[in-house]
Amino acid sequence: MTTTHCPYCALQCAMSLESGPDGRPAARPAPFPTNRGGLCRKGWTSAEVLGVPDRLTRPLLRKDRTEDLVEVDWDTALDHVAERLLALRAEHGPDAVAVFGSGGLTNEKSYTLGKFARLALGTSQIDYNGRFCMSSAAAAGNKAFGLDRGMPFPLTDVGSSKVVLLAGANPAETMPPMMGHLSAPRLIVIDPRRSATAQVALDNGGLHLAPRPGTDLALALGLSHLMGARGWIDRDYLEERTTGFERAWEHAAAWWPEITEQVTGVPAVALREAADMLGAAAREHSAYILTGRGSEQHAKGTDTVSAWINLALALGLPGREGSGYGCITGQGNGQGGREHGQKADQLPGYRRIDDPAARAHVASVWGVDPDTLPGPGRSAFELLDSLGEGGGPRAMLLFGSNPVVSAPDSSRIRSRLNSLDLLVTADFVLSETAALGDVVLPVAQWAEESGTMTNLEGRVLRRNRALPPPEGVRTDLEVLAALAVRLGQPVDRFPTEPDTVLAELGRATAGAPADYSGVTPERLASGEALYWPVRAGAEPTPRLFLDAFAHPDGRARLVPVAHRPPAEVTDEAYPLIATTGRLMGHYQSGAQTRRVPELAGAEPEVYVEVHPDTAAHAGLGEGDLAAVTSRRGVTRARVRLTPTARLDTVFLPFHYAGEQAANNLTNPALDPTSRMPEFKVSAVRLEPAR
Ligand code: SF4
Repeated sequence: MTTTHCPYCALQCAMSLESGPDGRPAARPAPFPTNRGGLCRKGWTSAEVLGVPDRLTRPLLRKDRTEDLVEVDWDTALDHVAERLLALRAEHGPDAVAVFGSGGLTNEKSYTLGKFARLALGTSQIDYNGRFCMSSAAAAGNKAFGLDRGMPFPLTDVGSSKVVLLAGANPAETMPPMMGHLSAPRLIVIDPRRSATAQVALDNGGLHLAPRPGTDLALALGLSHLMGARGWIDRDYLEERTTGFERAWEHAAAWWPEITEQVTGVPAVALREAADMLGAAAREHSAYILTGRGSEQHAKGTDTVSAWINLALALGLPGREGSGYGCITGQGNGQGGREHGQKADQLPGYRRIDDPAARAHVASVWGVDPDTLPGPGRSAFELLDSLGEGGGPRAMLLFGSNPVVSAPDSSRIRSRLNSLDLLVTADFVLSETAALGDVVLPVAQWAEESGTMTNLEGRVLRRNRALPPPEGVRTDLEVLAALAVRLGQPVDRFPTEPDTVLAELGRATAGAPADYSGVTPERLASGEALYWPVRAGAEPTPRLFLDAFAHPDGRARLVPVAHRPPAEVTDEAYPLIATTGRLMGHYQSGAQTRRVPELAGAEPEVYVEVHPDTAAHAGLGEGDLAAVTSRRGVTRARVRLTPTARLDTVFLPFHYAGEQAANNLTNPALDPTSRMPEFKVSAVRLEPAR
């Protein structure tokens, strides 16, 4: 039996891998504070992914796009990749090669991927799929607090509060064990849908406010206005611990409840009720505001999260025990993945790549001249959209990601990937993106290697290796090391042992905002709660900001933000809004969970959730096959009539591929700060599929 953590979401539930009745590994829940001994159905079935029948165990190669992929040995595959990369680099320069990573990779892999891009390839063109997940909250957190640790407090704190406002988060579906922490507080759920979490709120005496998609920022301003009008603002706290209140509050002044109702569709009476419920709990320092993808995945996602943080600051919540603001990070290593250098603008430890001191420190750990390190590159969508015929990089190495399904405007991304001179993918199966590769490298899965993950609280955890990978399969670290040598790097520059990489990561992050220098295998093995920063020789930090925020003056910033419409609005041709989200049975692009029979059986195909009147208007009934069409593409989805749905909004889960892919529809309009695409609002029409 091996104790480890789930391969999926950022709750990182603890589990043990045991030998099941048929001799194959089976996952069982293990005690841990965040999951309190629970797992969702994804976690329970996670060991099945280890033995999927279409597991890749040999590298695949095609020298010409007109050919099929054929099995080759590792030397042939890696030699081919290195030869092509060197040729492209010689002809077009180092930025002709791009790297794409993932918020699912361990800290050691995220770190090594960034180092590999900057040293072995010399490219600035690296980013990762976390840009599509929580980058808006990260940007807003950095602006407000000077530091982004999704939840700057342990999740267990939340359960003893009186009220929790969840803005665009649906943990009852996406991370069910978290609901154990939300059973005592009254919930105010902000979501255009009557989600499972919204239903829990209503059942337990809480509230569900269902704004028109794309108007969350207006709703936050409307609630802020009411807090001022009803005397719930904490003036002493604002005076002592913040700056910028007056300017930020000017933007809330015009948002009278009736105006807010006009824009958001949320009744003024419900707004007042929510303001009083939250304000009264805040006065007792017993309230939390938590945001999720529903607030963040907009072309104004950063401003929307800033509006929620402004509200939290005005109520005096952050930096106090018993209350606060946090982001519910989604991907398994969504927190650690955004800290260690696979982002276009970043070096390990959450250091900025354009900061001379950061460059000097990291270069000294890597043993190179800081002047040789490239600068910032393109963000994820801009990078994908620039590939090949987009005029940018001619080759891409892609690890742990499936953007053909998970990126917005996915057919456009597919054609960009197809126009590359060389696409190299590292995966455990032939995912929709891996299948486009010229070279496909079979790599180990979560339980076949060790590594650290950082959960949604900023707690560093160790996933332990439970079994060896199948013969012929290598780890990502081994792949990167073997390629680095072929690209001319010294043999010992890219270690393959995760603990060796962790030690180097600790040196690289020493003194940085996300300092891991005190994270050691021994401390991890002891079960110590290692919330970062974990400085060598110092205690970890479960609760940040209790004495001061991370800006040089110790004060939090309220950031002035104004509502603006979504990047795309409805019209006669596209009269409805499509919004996307997740299901309990699937994870991200579904590359893993669609291969688990129990999960695939429960949710076998995409559906479109639609109000019965809206469906009838389109000539559709329950179970009919609908064509949902946006300006970018079509998704064919089974109609699921939902009387609680908004009349103007349809919902599709995004875990499916091909003509079932919800991201055929989505709008790649980007947030100017976080570069987050607008997944949550697309103008569409609904009609029977032909
Ligand atoms: Fe826990 Fe998330 Fe895994 Fe479900 S998917 S078991 S909530 S870590």
